[in-house]
Amino acid sequence: MRLRNKPWAADLLEEHPEIVEKSPTEWRGNWKKKFANDNPIYVEVGTGKGQFVTKMAKANPDVNFIGIEKYESVLVTGVQRVMEEAPSNLRFLQEDVKNIADFFESSEVDRVFINFTDPWPKKRHAKRRLTHEYFLSMYEQILKKDGEVHFKTDNQGLFEYSIESLTHYGFQLKNISLDLHNSDMTNNVMTEYEERFSKKGMRIFRLEASLKK
Ligand code: SAM
Repeated sequence: MRLRNKPWAADLLEEHPEIVEKSPTEWRGNWKKKFANDNPIYVEVGTGKGQFVTKMAKANPDVNFIGIEKYESVLVTGVQRVMEEAPSNLRFLQEDVKNIADFFESSEVDRVFINFTDPWPKKRHAKRRLTHEYFLSMYEQILKKDGEVHFKTDNQGLFEYSIESLTHYGFQLKNISLDLHNSDMTNNVMTEYEERFSKKGMRIFRLEASLKK
């Protein structure tokens, strides 16, 4: 993700508390109150400019979506996109995923999406991969029984690593696709990176994982 210096981004995020939740720790355990309904909660980690969660929120009004992105200069584009007609079932957090267990109580989340996360190919950076066991243990904490992780990437190395990491952790894998766009999945919602990579003719890998608690 190329970062551009946008000194105005912090102010814009601040001006839209109906879209960006500035104090997520205060809502830990109470997100259903925030959304004023009992609907499931789906979280995308590393949401970038938020195209995926935004489309998903519009297409699934009976699900609450939360996109987490650490860089304000990236997230601000997602906020600008929905400023005019923000879906009431969508929130963004400008936060680091490493603190995710501070934002959600045990079993508060129904699904975690990890889309086109940075592969961090060097071994010494493995702990930064969002499918490293360090992050999986946090997803385990916040996911409810039978909750799922849905993962997409263009990066075969990261996909293979993630299969190993998830399986080793105890997740059960299903619906594994080695070429999503030539598979029979009909309701795929494309992320920003997915559009970019598939236009270049790159294959998209996908899997779903669940943990029996
Ligand atoms: N998910 C989007 C998509 O598919 O178009 C964006 C993909 S982009 C390659 C990965 C994004 O994840 C970047 O915007 C990056 O800043 C964010 N990210 C990576 N690690 C993160 C972390 N620990 N906490 C929050 N965001 C993170």
